[in-house]
Amino acid sequence: MTTTRPFNFSAGPAILPEVVLEQARDELLNWHESGMCVAEMSHRGKEFMHIASQAESDLRELLGIPDNYKVLFLQGGASSQFALIPMNLLPPGGCADYINTGTWSQKAIGEARRIGAINIATTTEESRFTRAPAANELTLTPNAAYVHYTPNETIEGVEFPYVPATGNVPLIADMSSTLLSRPIDVKQFGFIYAGAQKNIGPAGLTIVIVRDDLIGKAPANTPAMFDYKVHADNGSMYNTPPTYAWYLAGLVFKWLKDQGGLTAMATINQRKAALLYDAIDRSDFYHSPVDPAARSWMNVPFTLTNPALDKPFLTQAKAAGLLALQGHRSVGGMRASIYNAMPEAGVNALVQFMAEFERTQG
Ligand SMILES: *Cc1c(COP(=O)(O)O)cnc(C)c1O
Repeated sequence: MTTTRPFNFSAGPAILPEVVLEQARDELLNWHESGMCVAEMSHRGKEFMHIASQAESDLRELLGIPDNYKVLFLQGGASSQFALIPMNLLPPGGCADYINTGTWSQKAIGEARRIGAINIATTTEESRFTRAPAANELTLTPNAAYVHYTPNETIEGVEFPYVPATGNVPLIADMSSTLLSRPIDVKQFGFIYAGAQKNIGPAGLTIVIVRDDLIGKAPANTPAMFDYKVHADNGSMYNTPPTYAWYLAGLVFKWLKDQGGLTAMATINQRKAALLYDAIDRSDFYHSPVDPAARSWMNVPFTLTNPALDKPFLTQAKAAGLLALQGHRSVGGMRASIYNAMPEAGVNALVQFMAEFERTQG
């Protein structure tokens, strides 16, 4: 039974592929004749071990993750990684470079400052975070412990059009709202992390992809749960992992493979974003604050020239089956998040609604 659901443009927790939800529903009471819901299984039982390793191998296949990288399935969200990264990788007396491009960069910087010395390689704050820095704006520290950046700023809708070159210094990327939106070359990164609830699966799961040589650097007094080596050595099962979220993410990985993998997703995502930005640019009624060279494929903020129409826009959009379009409370306006699971029909419906709203209210 397929019901007609509205289109959910939430930034996160966000839309999931409908067929994944249907499969989870069908398997809810009795996963593969196990007699159990996945949420009821021992994480060390053979059923869940199979689910877990299948999810990892599908993710490795999708992203082309080399063998010298570990994949960790953790809890605590990307926000925990903001602290764990410097706790594990910023040695006393060392320095790490941070690129400041928006709200999530700033959060990462704030946590790192509690742990050690950092250098701001550059900031785009003067633009109110509406652009990505050019490569020649980055002032990188020779021998830094690492360089941290946010390839896609979920709130501002700003995306790097390139991967910063950091030589032998490991590059660390908070890919919470962009991982799996397109192919990447994992070898360019030392460490990639993402909270799952944007483009991967449900909240409660955090994916870490870390090169072997960056594991095992935590000081001896680091609590076990905060030490990447403990999680790596135990296959992310040092303690009880977020089993149901891991399972659902695994269903999403299978779905992505069925769509043709990340090259196919990139084509679709680029098309969806172009459709929406075209609709914004075509009219003086709507406005995108973001530099066209750095516009996100995943999170599209836009404003109405007349902000008095914001409320009617949101009310009528909701009535038309277009949910969660309000912008982040810190920036206002609108934001449409169009992650992998948002079908092209959803973006088409939004664009049609925008034209109709302009016709009747403009
Ligand atoms: C949502 C988000 C976070 C915070 O994620 P939590 O899982 O809530 O901690 C961090 N970085 C980026 C880029 C995000 O989009």
